[in-house]
Amino acid sequence: MISANQVGKAIAVHEEGVSECAHCCSHEFTKYGTTVRGQQRYKCKTCSRTFNSLTCTPLSGMKKQDK
Ligand SMILES: [Zn+2]
Repeated sequence: MISANQVGKAIAVHEEGVSECAHCCSHEFTKYGTTVRGQQRYKCKTCSRTFNSLTCTPLSGMKKQDK
């Protein structure tokens, strides 16, 4: 099992490592304020969707394209 502390560290790493859109993998995005939790939020210039460093992780629970 992963402890809550380890998860927190993983998130912190992701926070600094955002390099592409979570939806279309475009590198054309700009900062778009922050979330209610203070996380950096981004808006993609290609697909016009917003995302943050957690959007593409299992924590988001947005994987519906499997099967
Ligand atoms: Zn995009």
